[in-house]
Amino acid sequence: MKEDYYDILGVSKGASDSEIKKAYRKMALKYHPDKNPDDKEAEEKFKKAAEAYEVLSNPDKKARYDQFGHQAFEGGGGFGGGGMNMDDIFSQFGDIFGGAFGGGGGFSGFGGGGRQRVVKGSNLRIRVKLSLEEVANGVEKKIKVKRKIQAPGTTYKTCTTCNGAGQVTRVTNTILGRMQTASTCQTCGGAGQIIDKKPADADVHGLKLSEETVSVKIPAGVVDGMQLKVTGKGNDAPGNGIAGDLLVVIAEEEHPTLKREGDNLHYDMYVSLPDAVLGTSKEIDTVTGKVRIKIEEGVQSGKILRLRGKGIPSINGYGKGDLLVHVNVWTPKTLSKKQKEFFENMRDDEHFEPKPESSDKSFFEKVKDMFS
Ligand SMILES: [Zn+2]
Repeated sequence: MKEDYYDILGVSKGASDSEIKKAYRKMALKYHPDKNPDDKEAEEKFKKAAEAYEVLSNPDKKARYDQFGHQAFEGGGGFGGGGMNMDDIFSQFGDIFGGAFGGGGGFSGFGGGGRQRVVKGSNLRIRVKLSLEEVANGVEKKIKVKRKIQAPGTTYKTCTTCNGAGQVTRVTNTILGRMQTASTCQTCGGAGQIIDKKPADADVHGLKLSEETVSVKIPAGVVDGMQLKVTGKGNDAPGNGIAGDLLVVIAEEEHPTLKREGDNLHYDMYVSLPDAVLGTSKEIDTVTGKVRIKIEEGVQSGKILRLRGKGIPSINGYGKGDLLVHVNVWTPKTLSKKQKEFFENMRDDEHFEPKPESSDKSFFEKVKDMFS
């Protein structure tokens, strides 16, 4: 059972807006994480009070809560199981404490760690060449990466400039009262730590180069120039920072016979004149191996045979492209005397007269079909 919001703040059901506000202000100050470092119970109370206040301070939410209780916020729109996060809570403080604690003032973060800037190592970028088959089927690549790692033997100590806070606070007196401003510590760059000892082969940040093999799963359907991110496999950060990322840039190699266009593939097939006249079958390349396709007798040059689903899978996971086979009838350039005689005889033969049917679409109509 979820605790009643009025009980959490210790007010009665009929409490006025200002009573609710006063009660929350008291609780927020009492259980504030800065006053109760590492006290999980206080943190929990602090969060609960914030959630209760969030509802009871909003006339619309309060009315719904008064009518339906916690059910009013279940199933979306409410706080679900997650509750409020600290950023939400601190953003509430503007109206509660009238700005005195807002901005970069006293309550700037959560606990000790929250005030530190997390220092991140730099990203690395590497190009990976993929064959069209690898693009089509997805592949796991083992990539050799030279990345900076924390040199063993490097030790850190708390930064003496900021005492480990990562930022330095300056207090000035103004006509509006005491103002606090905070800025990143110049000595440690916000990490709160500086190098104590480091081995001779480490750089000024206590890092050194190391070669590692990183395994990268590349999904099917990637596109030339696309970047995949491998979290944490860039350069290490000094001290307690987090490592940068490894950015894998896809470079697609040209295929000897298949041309890619989006998720579709194109293949130029050349058919001899007798094969075009008599019909045949031919073996062609696909990204999953060779397949034999049938050529009907009387095939016209320029015909496009569509092999559905023999293209590249969509990177979004929705279906696959097609393989479009373009038929090109090869006209011989030299003939023997006998062959020449044969074609001379056929010149006026009615079977050799062009008689395009509606199914023999013009080139432009075929192009239009291909993109529709
Ligand atoms: Zn510092």
